[in-house]
Amino acid sequence: MLNKVLPERISRLEELANNLWVSWHPQGRAVFRAINYPLWRTSGHNPVRELYDTPSERLNELVNDSSFLTLYDIAIATFDRDMINGHCWFVNKHGGKLAGPVAYFSAEFAFHNSLPIYAGGLGVLAGDIVKEASDIGLPMSAIGLMYPQGYFHQRFSAEGWQEEIYEQLDFDRSPITPCPWPQGCGPLIQIQFGDRPLYLGVWLVKVGRINVYLLDTNVEMNSPADRQLSARLYSADREQRLQQEIVLGIGGVRALRTLGIEPSVWHGNEGHTSFMMLERVREEIEKGSSYVKALEHVRSTTVFTTHTPVPAGTDVFPDNLMDKYFRGFWSQMGIDRSTFLKLGQHNGAQDSDFNMTILALKLARHINGVSKIHGKVSRKMWHIIWPDLFEDDVPITYVTNGVHLPTWMDSEMYRLVDKHTGISLVENQDSPKLCEQIASIPDEQLWGCHQDLKRKLFHVIQERVQQRWASGTGDAEQAIAMGALLDSDALTIGFVRRFVEYKRPTLLFHDIERLKKIVGDKWRPIQIIFAGKSHPADFPSKHLLHKVYSMALDRDFQGRIAFVEDYDIHIAHYLVQGVDVWLNTPHRLEEASGTSGMKAGMNGVPNLSVAAGWWDEGYNGQNGWLIGERLSESSLPKDDDERDATELYRLIEQEIAPLYYQRDNNDVPQGWVKMMKESIKSIVPAFSTKRAVKEYTEKMYLPAVQVTVK
Ligand SMILES: *Cc1c(COP(=O)(O)O)cnc(C)c1O
Repeated sequence: MLNKVLPERISRLEELANNLWVSWHPQGRAVFRAINYPLWRTSGHNPVRELYDTPSERLNELVNDSSFLTLYDIAIATFDRDMINGHCWFVNKHGGKLAGPVAYFSAEFAFHNSLPIYAGGLGVLAGDIVKEASDIGLPMSAIGLMYPQGYFHQRFSAEGWQEEIYEQLDFDRSPITPCPWPQGCGPLIQIQFGDRPLYLGVWLVKVGRINVYLLDTNVEMNSPADRQLSARLYSADREQRLQQEIVLGIGGVRALRTLGIEPSVWHGNEGHTSFMMLERVREEIEKGSSYVKALEHVRSTTVFTTHTPVPAGTDVFPDNLMDKYFRGFWSQMGIDRSTFLKLGQHNGAQDSDFNMTILALKLARHINGVSKIHGKVSRKMWHIIWPDLFEDDVPITYVTNGVHLPTWMDSEMYRLVDKHTGISLVENQDSPKLCEQIASIPDEQLWGCHQDLKRKLFHVIQERVQQRWASGTGDAEQAIAMGALLDSDALTIGFVRRFVEYKRPTLLFHDIERLKKIVGDKWRPIQIIFAGKSHPADFPSKHLLHKVYSMALDRDFQGRIAFVEDYDIHIAHYLVQGVDVWLNTPHRLEEASGTSGMKAGMNGVPNLSVAAGWWDEGYNGQNGWLIGERLSESSLPKDDDERDATELYRLIEQEIAPLYYQRDNNDVPQGWVKMMKESIKSIVPAFSTKRAVKEYTEKMYLPAVQVTVK
């Protein structure tokens, strides 16, 4: 929260800095870039930190700087225009259909690196959805947890093992404020925590028009252990995990009530949020409903999105923990223990653990997976909940994920599109017709734009290597493993994602000798950049990470394999925009959707991927490459490392490298640029969050309002 007196003429910088709107609007970023460029960069593009650290003399200077004032006035005018709901899709098309906002619950949100309260794709999706809700004027209140230490920063030890470093968030320098309460309410809310009360503070994050409320247990009235509870994301400790989910679900409902917000639809993003549904059942019963009626009311107004394609991925809690925290709760619901526990078990299963996804499947009527395949996989996986239905009739549909275009597409690139089509891509991103016109961009300009982005990426990598070297915390070998020898002219493949076994991060090394030949080709060299974190408790994945690190040091690879430390959304921007090819090789049915490939694809970085998640829908034969077969409805193929790796090598050797290195007289690879254009024009309209949030609105939210029983 910025707390600083600013000169009158530019006093609204405070409001801008405290709203993440700035992060996805070039007009906003331009202002802060101009205030103090070195601080803008060292702050990681965090306007609050930048302003905080900028001396008053500089601020006073700006008041007399007419070019700065022009930037400021433009940003303020654009901001004010955007804060008004009037001209938006939702208002034009569905205005008046929602009496209250959509309450959107998620355990993580990735808005910006100044707020590290996410671990991966789930958070990125949630963050992008909130930004898009703001853009299209969909009323929404979002609920999450404040993790003052967030997720860890990754570093390599001298031996190439992952080390985890936690940093305390500096609240004074972050875009977050204590929640303003209605008269007579707050500043804390209270929930029952087993046998004791727990107090929760609430923080407010402004994301354009949308308010995000983050619950925090670190308040004086709680015991030291409880104060630590929300410190970090995804503890490996079961009980802590359960406690966090109680805070999110039950505390979240209480927070909205205390704020006087009356949602008309409740959306749980993944099973971590399911206690929200339980708390609402309890409320209905408290108001006088019968158990059956209360269930019916909650179900009809609840949307649930499942993200896990494998049963092992769902959150489960043993009975003894459920007893400890919910003993008082089921009596308030007017039900007995066994009826209560059954809500989290599949029918017929006795004494199994309490499953948060099953709870949501039973308490939400509007349920979706996150890609077409994932919808199918989910229907199969959860058929046990509806044993009387045919598998195809299991009531789980899908809304394929999308990514927020103004966040992830480089602004120079979308401005290039605007310049040649005469229409704003950001405004018309889900119009396939506009995207057709992308063909009219001159090849050399699109290629030039990509080259600039690639240089930027390499610059950022070199800068990190240099800092590490200069600070004396890394040796020469480490510098090489981290990319010191990369060459910005070579074809560069990115393998960038959370390190988990199912994503097969070492598939590329299946045949090391063959890969050495490919990488070391004298005329058509190839580089591979890796990045990604292992969960601190996932030891098999840490070994995979170590293996990749060791490969990067193998001299036969000539320094052409690099591992960039500390993957987060900041470096993700440079990576998805700056490599030449985006590689993905997960086990086909274990990737729910994936979104990083969408980010790359809309920046003209073609995907090279197996038919998993979104790529099975996205691949059209011209916008990238498919490793192996497309999935067919009837026979879902088995993954075979040998076959997949062989096909991957073949594609690189015979299709990708030749296309990339075939240049015209101006050194432009025309065939490649054609593929870049295909990638942009097919991926922008179909895989933007604009498409996804419109689909959520019409397919999930509006039906949840209309069938409400009184
Ligand atoms: C987009 C993104 C993800 C999700 O990527 P997938 O591997 O495609 O699921 C994860 N982490 C970060 C930092 C991202 O930006």
